[in-house]
Amino acid sequence: MSTSEIYDLIIVGGGPGGFSAGIYAMRAALKTVLIEKGAPGGQMAMSGEVENYPGIERIGGPDLSMQFHQHALSYGLEMVFSEVKEVEPGLAYHSVHLDDGSVLKGYAVILGTGGSSHKLNIPGEAEYYGQGVSYCAVCDGFFFRNKTVVVIGGGDSAAEESLYLAKLAKQVYMVHRRDALRASKILQQRIKAECKIEMIWDSVPVAINANEQGVSSIELKNVKTGQHQDLQTDGVFIFVGFSPNNQLVPSGIHMNANGYVVTDDKCETNIPGIYVIGDLRQKYARQIVIAASDGCTAALAAAHYVENRKAAESDSCQLV
Ligand code: NAP
Repeated sequence: MSTSEIYDLIIVGGGPGGFSAGIYAMRAALKTVLIEKGAPGGQMAMSGEVENYPGIERIGGPDLSMQFHQHALSYGLEMVFSEVKEVEPGLAYHSVHLDDGSVLKGYAVILGTGGSSHKLNIPGEAEYYGQGVSYCAVCDGFFFRNKTVVVIGGGDSAAEESLYLAKLAKQVYMVHRRDALRASKILQQRIKAECKIEMIWDSVPVAINANEQGVSSIELKNVKTGQHQDLQTDGVFIFVGFSPNNQLVPSGIHMNANGYVVTDDKCETNIPGIYVIGDLRQKYARQIVIAASDGCTAALAAAHYVENRKAAESDSCQLV
């Protein structure tokens, strides 16, 4: 790690987007460093099985993460395992402050810090994650073909994912803590029309139970009557909100009302040379393949940006 030189590109976040950016940046001969605070892979590393990454029929999330990591390292990508505290935009270069006080300088910065699903924080949720507890129907729904699943939440995500799961599962129970959905009217109408979806109103999850095969039931409490019920299920899909990890996004960068960063089609923000990829970026869907695609786009755009910056710098030197 060099704190004296200016990197061509600093990538923050070692998920599929960050590694994809690293691969493309190294192939474009950019002097690049990738900073990751935890294990390589991000949310991908926490997925049990991945079955929708094109070209790989089925692979464990941790294994796919290692493959992304190894692929990037094979090009000589420099990795620093550290927590970034601040990204400070500048005119000559951007500065990335690490938790040990060191500061890295880069002409371009790609932020790929992802996002986090809100948690219920009930017994069984963390313990059985990947064994029946999921935060992504598109990723995991396939494992519940002709099975019974419970969806928690009443917003657009819970509604959309319930409709998706209804195409695969035998039965979908949608559990909501009130007696009216927050989801948009059109989704409410579709939920009502889908005979495989049964609503359980005014109820909150209390605990998720499992046996050797994985999740077996969920304990629910009716908030109006106080009564508890143990509902048999093979899976529990939790959609009680999702937040982008936008804490490092410098002030002045445009974000939408939900905290996702707005970029152009090059994944560039309104601050030149700062790019945002993956789940942190405003977009239609959140998938590994989309994050990887963003990483590619941003790295190619950054390569072009850095080349122009250096050309402009050498022109101005010659004029002096
Ligand atoms: P959301 O709109 O915040 O909905 C979260 C749902 O979870 C709400 O129904 C909420 O109940 C419930 N909830 C929250 N905490 C809970 C808890 N501890 N226990 C039980 N239930 C809990 O989140 P979202 O559905 O992920 O959507 C986020 C944003 O993305 C929204 O603006 C949404 O419109 C947008 N979005 C749009 C689309 C689309 O347009 N196609 C698709 C997905 C998401 P209450 O209703 O009682 O608060």
